[in-house]
Amino acid sequence: MRVIIAGAGPAGFVVARTLVERGHEVVLLEKRAVPGGKVSAWQDADGDWIESGLHVFFGAYHNLLDFLNRYGLGDTFNWKPAEMIFASERHGLAGISFVPWLPVPLNGLAGVAKFTPLTLGDKLRMGLGLLRPIFGDQAYVDQQDDESYASWHLRHGMGQRSLDEVMHTMSLALNFLRADQVSAKLPLTAMLHFAHEKQAPKMALVKGSPDTNIWRPLIRQIEGLGGRVELGHKLVGIEYDEAANRVTGFQLEDGSTVTGDVYVSAMPVHNLRKVLPASWRKFAYFDNLKHLKGAPVITMQLFFDRQIAGVDNLLFSAGTHLSVYADMAMVAPEYHTGGRSIMQFVVAPAETLITLPDDELVRFVMDEFVRLHPVAREARLLKHTIVRIPNSVYQARPGVDKYRPDQASPVSNFFLAGDYTRQHFLASIEGATISARRCVERITEALASGTIAPAREVVAAG
Ligand SMILES: Cc1cc2nc3c(=O)[nH]c(=O)nc-3n(C[C@H](O)[C@H](O)[C@H](O)COP(=O)(O)OP(=O)(O)OC[C@H]3O[C@@H](n4cnc5c(N)ncnc54)[C@H](O)[C@@H]3O)c2cc1C
Repeated sequence: MRVIIAGAGPAGFVVARTLVERGHEVVLLEKRAVPGGKVSAWQDADGDWIESGLHVFFGAYHNLLDFLNRYGLGDTFNWKPAEMIFASERHGLAGISFVPWLPVPLNGLAGVAKFTPLTLGDKLRMGLGLLRPIFGDQAYVDQQDDESYASWHLRHGMGQRSLDEVMHTMSLALNFLRADQVSAKLPLTAMLHFAHEKQAPKMALVKGSPDTNIWRPLIRQIEGLGGRVELGHKLVGIEYDEAANRVTGFQLEDGSTVTGDVYVSAMPVHNLRKVLPASWRKFAYFDNLKHLKGAPVITMQLFFDRQIAGVDNLLFSAGTHLSVYADMAMVAPEYHTGGRSIMQFVVAPAETLITLPDDELVRFVMDEFVRLHPVAREARLLKHTIVRIPNSVYQARPGVDKYRPDQASPVSNFFLAGDYTRQHFLASIEGATISARRCVERITEALASGTIAPAREVVAAG
């Protein structure tokens, strides 16, 4: 069977690598010149690596870790202690450290108990308020989707301070939205995993660039098994045979059409919507995609002439737009530049910032950064890089979850993969991996049930 996949991000790669191993002929099309989607990395003219985003991997990422282990890429990460370090103007650096020798959920609760920005009363209220998700299950968490996290938090008596000092930051880090904009389901899903599994909050960063360590090795493997990965090949249209309810080809920007038996979109939802045939609007399945909108976010790297933060882990900030950041020269020493900091920031919320010119944006980020790390005032900024992503992960706003599509579409040989499609995890690399596994399952089920068959057989039968 010949499978055409559009979008070489994590989801597209997992579909392609899995199907090529099962003996299918695979063509993976990617519009950009670099693979990896929102987890891509490339070198600038100076040879410095630019990343589309600061990417953290968690012990909870079982599907992704299994996938990488299976294909000999498991030794890709620098693992860090399970600790959320918050930087704020008021409290300096303060951490929530999961205590390794305590069982779940006491390991996390003990970490919160030592978190100095919260009062004893805040901690007790938080402990009590979180009992339900801690001892609950995914079904309970799913039912909270119609409410914002902030409203859920306050309704459960946990108070404003823990919202401001911890949960706004967590919401921004998870979905680039503040806690009053994000569905309660999102932070609660993360907490559910952290509360149920000891290894879940362990964090890791790729040893150097994801391009060198993950995507290029996967391309070599796919091509070694007869598949093709075509970078710089943008899908601009979908050819559809309405009578047979089948896709008959993917049209590319260069005017060519790529044909196969099965077609997969592993593109982000806003890109998929641009290429949907107009007649597909009659399917509520496709029409509902309009409810899934991408969140704007900015990735900025600041190269300094000296070391600044001195922390070998991620940093979260409360009360700024620097939701998550890290010194890449410390957390991934493979990027090292002789003791000089390369600070990489996830800047969110970015709605009003994303259109600012570079110099204003750098000034804005520097202002917030020196408030958190006054020592940066003395340092010289050698260089900056900025990646603006107007439509990143889908905005998990209250009530939106029900519109996420299954991986099997109403069109018989057309399937979806991608973090926004229906899967129980967050919009993340793990979520993209789960969606891709479900996509492969749906294709396999359809093949087994005879719903799809190689195109040549269908033509002969007709
Ligand atoms: C700044 C930032 C930080 C993040 N941090 C984390 C993190 O720490 N941990 C985590 O787990 N997740 C993180 N994420 C989320 C994670 O990157 C995404 O969830 C994941 O990349 C989704 O994978 P995907 O394959 O579904 O989509 P994508 O990664 O978006 O890949 C889709 C691919 O489709 C391609 N495409 C689009 N249109 C076309 C077309 N017309 N033709 C062909 N190809 C096309 C795109 O170029 C892209 O390569 C972060 C995201 C951002 C933006």
